[in-house]
Amino acid sequence: MQRYFVAAEQFGDSEIRIIGEDAHHAVRVMRTKPGDKFIVSDGQSRTALVTVLEASPMVIKAQIVERLSADSEPSWDITIAQSLPKSDKMELVIQKGTEIGAYAFVPFQSERMVVQYDAKKEAKRIDRWNKIAKEAAEQAHRNRIPSIEPVQSWQELIQSFGSYDLVLFCYEREGHAAHGRGVRLAIREWLENSAAVSTPNVLLIVGSEGGFTDREAAEAEAAGAVLVGLGRRILRTETAGIVGLTCLLYESGEMGGA
Ligand code: SAM
Repeated sequence: MQRYFVAAEQFGDSEIRIIGEDAHHAVRVMRTKPGDKFIVSDGQSRTALVTVLEASPMVIKAQIVERLSADSEPSWDITIAQSLPKSDKMELVIQKGTEIGAYAFVPFQSERMVVQYDAKKEAKRIDRWNKIAKEAAEQAHRNRIPSIEPVQSWQELIQSFGSYDLVLFCYEREGHAAHGRGVRLAIREWLENSAAVSTPNVLLIVGSEGGFTDREAAEAEAAGAVLVGLGRRILRTETAGIVGLTCLLYESGEMGGA
């Protein structure tokens, strides 16, 4: 069944309105007509089964038939901080991370980044990334769309550590040397040594194609990050965040079964 996210102001008490590209796609591509049913979410806490009352490429009006409580969101909020990768790799990280259950994405700059950071270009790319996150969230039947933060500098990222319960810095050097602590050990140690948190807020930091400098690793650790390995193989930048996210959700029992 087709699903759409709408802005909170389009989600009324008994009726919802779909506008813009979604209305156009529903009518022109999906041939939506009065009487059809689909699922609508406001991307925060409200999801409903609706029946179409009126359908035009500009606006669709639908009656709320039933409020749905199925919550597909993980009980851990995991944000992937991804050092800006080349070409369209970020789109893959966002699409797959959204399907798997990422809470948010923070693109950031690091020393060995291969791409040249261009603020104007990034602003356009963030629009595209938001579109990818919305489509992936609809396809994955999520209740919310992961947020994509503006590109941060290395220092801005480090200063944000305090707003997370746990910061994991994926350091290929550690992992490669096989002496790094894996995600599982890092989580177990954190769970043992910290007060219980109902919805752990975790930051997972991934380097670009050029990886991290020892200085960045030392600065991150000094600011409270835990260096973790993702196994003894070197993963591509676009693979590492997806693997780290999956490990975290697996360990938190969110990948099916406890
Ligand atoms: N310096 C790496 C090399 O030797 O080829 C390249 C960096 S790797 C392509 C990109 C990022 O993915 C790393 O900075 C790290 O954050 C993460 N990563 C890749 N493999 C990893 C591993 N085995 N353990 C931990 N992090 C890893």
